[in-house]
Amino acid sequence: MSYQNSLKYAQEQDKKDSLQKYRSKFYIPTNDNDKEKELIYLCGNSLGLQPKTTKHYIQEVLDDWAKLGVEGHTEAKHPWLPYHEFLTDAMAEIVGAKPIEVVVMNTLTTNLHLLMVSFYRPTAKKYKVVVESDAFPSDKYAVESQVKFHGYNPKDAIIYWKPRKGGELLQIGDLQKIVDKQGDEIAMFLIGGVNYYTGQVLNLKKIAEIGHQKNIKVGIDLAHGAGNIQPNLHDSDVDFAAWCTYKYLNSGPGSLGALFVHEKYARDKALNRFAGWWSHNKQTRFNMRKEYDVLPGAEGWQLSNPPILSMAAIRASLDIFKEVGMKKIREKSDKLTGYLEFLINEINSDKVKIITPKDKNQRGAQLSIQVKDADKSLHKKITDAGVISDWREPDVIRVAPVPLYNSFEDVYRFVSILKESI
Ligand SMILES: *Cc1c(COP(=O)(O)O)cnc(C)c1O
Repeated sequence: MSYQNSLKYAQEQDKKDSLQKYRSKFYIPTNDNDKEKELIYLCGNSLGLQPKTTKHYIQEVLDDWAKLGVEGHTEAKHPWLPYHEFLTDAMAEIVGAKPIEVVVMNTLTTNLHLLMVSFYRPTAKKYKVVVESDAFPSDKYAVESQVKFHGYNPKDAIIYWKPRKGGELLQIGDLQKIVDKQGDEIAMFLIGGVNYYTGQVLNLKKIAEIGHQKNIKVGIDLAHGAGNIQPNLHDSDVDFAAWCTYKYLNSGPGSLGALFVHEKYARDKALNRFAGWWSHNKQTRFNMRKEYDVLPGAEGWQLSNPPILSMAAIRASLDIFKEVGMKKIREKSDKLTGYLEFLINEINSDKVKIITPKDKNQRGAQLSIQVKDADKSLHKKITDAGVISDWREPDVIRVAPVPLYNSFEDVYRFVSILKESI
């Protein structure tokens, strides 16, 4: 791909872009003082923007509830009893799974715990957990608390997969070394498939292979992967995964998450799990007196009847993903993030370094930019100039041009502002 460093070129790319029309299907945040002036929103990796259709999907539920009351469970336009099923196929498609492997439920950290109830079954000899050293704090806390819950000491039981000295990125060979040395003591991996800090995309298939050499259960957090990359969960053979829907999946603050349990466990009733009525056989769920009869597949991890209003927002978003397809989204994302990389390199300053991998198979939309000697005042400067981005101490700006609503012009304008601010 040969890019050019000019606004004119960026605008031409937008005109040629087959996804350009989708930008107008989202609300782009604007400046307080000037409602006409759209901000340069590069934070879709933290909270995705609102599709203009979302309110209609939510309104449908509100109207059905007003009109039907409890009857809405079966009589609503999209009945509430099976509402989560309306999301399953599209969600499975996005993460490369079979429908039986996926369910939308709860929130991410809750789902990680429920999955660890099933897949972290430590014994006196095999009890350790591998996490990446700069894992998202919630995942670290979740693993620490699970380890303690089972009576082990996190200091001994948690092994950190670290980047090598002087680098920021993880090397798969180092995970293999950990397993070669301590594999017999390791019970589980819980690893971010796309690192939230560096934007590095890991090879899930390889991670699963390494784990399974020593009968280690392999779990993946896909918070930064779902709707961003194509993780092919089924073929990767990881045992379980969980993600949220408010980042690249644009379903609104605190919206529900989803989980994946590999098909090989779909009918394994012996798996330990916490239960609730929503994972009970749908035919006899309302008999209330029947003994627990767990549903096959990922649905068998549900506990409660789910919040339909949140699911309506997810349905609105998934309908856009269905219409466009992940293949096209990835194609544009590669170009857009490639353009961002090109322009940052054009700044040509030894102060600026991209820590995200150069290889496009090892990254998604996000680039993490390290700015030497910078502090938070740099972030304030670019924010004041109309850029919404994310600052991570000590010196990293994370930006994620999102293919569904960001433009080449956004990327061009952002880099001009960054250059001026440094
Ligand atoms: C965003 C994110 C979370 C947030 O967890 P919630 O339970 O949804 O609050 C957890 N882990 C990772 C890796 C994330 O990126």
